[in-house]
Amino acid sequence: MKWTDDRSDNVDDRRGIGGGAVVGGGLGTLIIAAIIFFLGGDPSAVLSSGNTGTNSARTEQRDLTPSELKVRDFVKMVTAENEQTWTKVFAENGLKYTPAKVVLFESATQSGCGTAQSAMGPFYCPADQTVYMDMSFFKELEQQFGAKVTEFSIAYVMAHEMGHHVQNLLGVLDETNKARTSGNYSESQLNRVSVATELQADFYAGLWAKQTDSREHILEPGDIQSAMDAAEAVGDDNIQKRSQGYVNQESFTHGSSAQRKEWFMKGYNTGDMRQGDTFNQLLK
Ligand SMILES: [Zn+2]
Repeated sequence: MKWTDDRSDNVDDRRGIGGGAVVGGGLGTLIIAAIIFFLGGDPSAVLSSGNTGTNSARTEQRDLTPSELKVRDFVKMVTAENEQTWTKVFAENGLKYTPAKVVLFESATQSGCGTAQSAMGPFYCPADQTVYMDMSFFKELEQQFGAKVTEFSIAYVMAHEMGHHVQNLLGVLDETNKARTSGNYSESQLNRVSVATELQADFYAGLWAKQTDSREHILEPGDIQSAMDAAEAVGDDNIQKRSQGYVNQESFTHGSSAQRKEWFMKGYNTGDMRQGDTFNQLLK
């Protein structure tokens, strides 16, 4: 991935400030991270239940390493390119875009949706319109899921979370939360709503990649493939095979590996926001 000169001011780097509670890793962390990875909607239910069976400790205040500072710079760049692309796309559709914030943290930090913890993986909190990321997640993605993590696969994950912000601004998350709390839908129906929400965020990530590349020429050979490898690693079928040895489609909440790739590529190939109605296509 080629870097651009743009940097966003909407990134809050809380690493190295000390004081956060450390959550014990080990058994379960992998699965929790996988399931929460790309979580759509309001993660507060999972966040509040995430405190069981964990140890806590304090982190020391420390200086960030050069590579951590480079990560901050990278995140500021990707955030800026999300702001520019979505401002333009919203304007083309007669809408006004307001940027999301990004918080980088380690171990744990406060979010508008409860305590954010590393094991949850990156997520978007609609209440404070903020993406929370602990970069150690990507190490896990590489070591546990065997996905080769590149700069562009990190950008894809960020673009997916920013896709949830787009859904929030468009009122999609409100609708899905209403469906969730109405009591009118079965669990498997709600799982399909969740899959549609996640696949739409993948579609928006693909759209972002296309539109940003047209403007800034960020893509290098292999970049799209690396994002697809990350999407494949965290597809529900792949996670279920690894965690329980079989695949139960009814319980999917994020979509299969093939669906995730399909919708990212649809966003990438069309670059057109109107092609992203996953709800009509999946909930018929
Ligand atoms: Zn998601």
